[in-house]
Amino acid sequence: MSPHRIAVLAGDGIGPEVVEAALPVLEAAAGLEGVDLDWVHFPWGCDHWQATGRMMPEDGLDRLRPFDAIFLGAVGRPDVPDHVSVRGLILPIRRAFDQYVNLRPMELLPGLSPVLAGRGGAPFSPESFRMVCVRENSEGEYVGLGGRFDQGTRDERAEQLSVFTRRGIERVARYAFRLADGRPRRLLASATKSNAWQHAMVLWDEVVEEVARDFPRVSWRPYHVDALAARMVSHPDSLDVILASNLFGDILSDLGAALTGSLGLAPGANLNPEGTHPSMFEPIHGSAPDIAGQGIANPIGTIWAGALMLDHLGAQGAAGRVERALRAVVADGTVLTPELGGRAGTMEVAEAVRLRLADAGGAPPPS
Ligand code: NAD
Ligand code: MN
Repeated sequence: MSPHRIAVLAGDGIGPEVVEAALPVLEAAAGLEGVDLDWVHFPWGCDHWQATGRMMPEDGLDRLRPFDAIFLGAVGRPDVPDHVSVRGLILPIRRAFDQYVNLRPMELLPGLSPVLAGRGGAPFSPESFRMVCVRENSEGEYVGLGGRFDQGTRDERAEQLSVFTRRGIERVARYAFRLADGRPRRLLASATKSNAWQHAMVLWDEVVEEVARDFPRVSWRPYHVDALAARMVSHPDSLDVILASNLFGDILSDLGAALTGSLGLAPGANLNPEGTHPSMFEPIHGSAPDIAGQGIANPIGTIWAGALMLDHLGAQGAAGRVERALRAVVADGTVLTPELGGRAGTMEVAEAVRLRLADAGGAPPPS
């Protein structure tokens, strides 16, 4: 079989650290299943911006287009404005390749004791905390339209427009309902704020309701996003698939990751479901400048994102191995990074996962 060609954007801060740790794991899992991966590295990010004034070259998107997938670490550096780094690399890729679904599993892995366990009676167990966020990834609050006016004067004003389209809501809602329909609990929560946001979020609610009619087996309801955030803490067992706009999904998925123990655990997939363009896989965390360069960043989220990528590429055997191996390392609990209370470094954790791959064969895990 011809190799899967993967563009690697390690990025900034801990991005290169977690990517360097994850690649040998993915490579080894693929090798055990006879899958060939061909990695091509692109040194784009804040260094590139400092040298050239751009986060990626002008023809960057054209160069990424022929790849089967994109594997991203993280971008951002304290001396570069965040809107420059994120808007200069990640958002253009998501948009140009119509990666309109941002899929973010939020699961409490067996073995971890989450921050809130035992404080307030919410059932924080792997059985009760098993959600996935389907975040709209192509429009909404992140379209980047607006402007600053009368800058520096007392009348200064900023406008930041959101754009919601029937087509955009419909396609991501359909993806989320289909996903919910295939999960054991068949529940879907739609994050809204139609009590205050009477144009965009009322359209959101109407379109979601229309899509829901095609999925009679899925129990669903809208929640205002603030109440939904609270519910993730107080009643995680009542939630399964969470459908959210770009901004709401961004916030709720960081909350979900923190509730499961660490931002460093959570993976994300930016999907172009039709496969017309490459999809992009990344941990949900950023470049973590506070711990960059110390070799202590948790690589699990990045490795897990790699498993989502292998699954997307059709290498289910390799994906299953990676996911089972990382779960085994977390459950074992002896090789963990400091933010989870352990003493291991980034490379040690990744190596522990790699060593478990051989015993991690079998059917793909339930998704
Ligand atoms: P962050 O996710 O980088 O860090 C938040 C906190 O989580 C920090 O305390 C950090 O140490 C911790 N953390 C994150 N990843 C970790 C890991 N793998 N292991 C252990 N701890 C981890 O968010 P931030 O501080 O708001 O942003 C830092 C930079 O990253 C900014 O420039 C921001 O714009 C950028 N950012 C990029 C992306 C992306 O590349 N997709 C996403 C979010 C933020
Ligand atoms: Mn985020």
